[in-house]
Amino acid sequence: MSKEVESFTDWLRDSAQVLHDNAAYLTELDSAIGDADHGANMDRGFGAVVAVLDETSFDTVDELLKKAGMTLVSKVGGASGPLYGTFFLRFGTALAGVKLTPAAIGEGLRAGVGGILARGKAEIGDKTMYDAWGPALDAYDTAVAGGGDLAAALTAAAEASAKGRDATVPLEARKGRASYLGERSVGHQDPGATSTTLLLESAARTLA
Ligand code: ADP
Ligand code: MG
Ligand code: MG
Repeated sequence: MSKEVESFTDWLRDSAQVLHDNAAYLTELDSAIGDADHGANMDRGFGAVVAVLDETSFDTVDELLKKAGMTLVSKVGGASGPLYGTFFLRFGTALAGVKLTPAAIGEGLRAGVGGILARGKAEIGDKTMYDAWGPALDAYDTAVAGGGDLAAALTAAAEASAKGRDATVPLEARKGRASYLGERSVGHQDPGATSTTLLLESAARTLA
C-alpha cells in the first residue's frame, strides 16, 4: 500500500472511530432540530466504510475515496448519506491521476463540497454542514497560498470549521429537516456542521 493510500485509510478509520464515539452526541443535537438519527446515520455509514477497508485493498487514493463515497450513499439514508457520499465521490474523482500536493488536495476538497452544494443547494447561513465546509475551504486555501504545508492547511481548515459550526447556533435553519421548525431551530447547533468538523479534525490528525 502506498504511503498516501495508507494515510487516507487512516483518516477514514479514525473518522469512523470518532463518529462512533460521538454518535450519541450527534443524535442528541439532531433530536433538538431534526429526527434524532444523525449519529446513528454517520456511525452506520462509516462502519460500512471500515468493513470495506477490511476486505479490499486499494492501489490509489481516488479509488479509495470513491468507494467510501459509494458506500455512504448506499448505506446511509436521509440527507447526510447522499451529501457526504457525493463529497467523497467527487473528492476522489478530482484526485484521479493527480499528484497529491496540498494545493491539489485543496482543489479536491472544493470539488467534493461542490457536490454537497449541487445536491443540497445550501448557502452560507442556512444552518447546514456547508456553514462548516465553506470557511474550512477558504482557510485551507489561505494557508496553502501563504506557503503552509498539508498539516498547516488542514489544521486551519479544522479550526475554521469549528468556528462555522459554532456560528450555526443562533441561525434559523433554511435547509433540511431543521427548516421545518422555522424560528424554533434558533439556539441549537447544527448536527451536520458538527460531524463535518469531526471529519476535518480527524484529517488534520491523520493526513498530515
Ligand atoms: P436527515 O435530516 O435526513 O435525518 P441527518 O440527520 O443524517 O439526515 O443529517 C442532517 C444534517 O444534514 C443537517 O444537520 C445538515 O447539516 C445537513 N443537511 C440537511 N439538508 C442539507 C442541505 N440541503 N445542504 C447541506 N446540508 C444539509
Ligand atoms: Mg436526522
Ligand atoms: Mg433522518
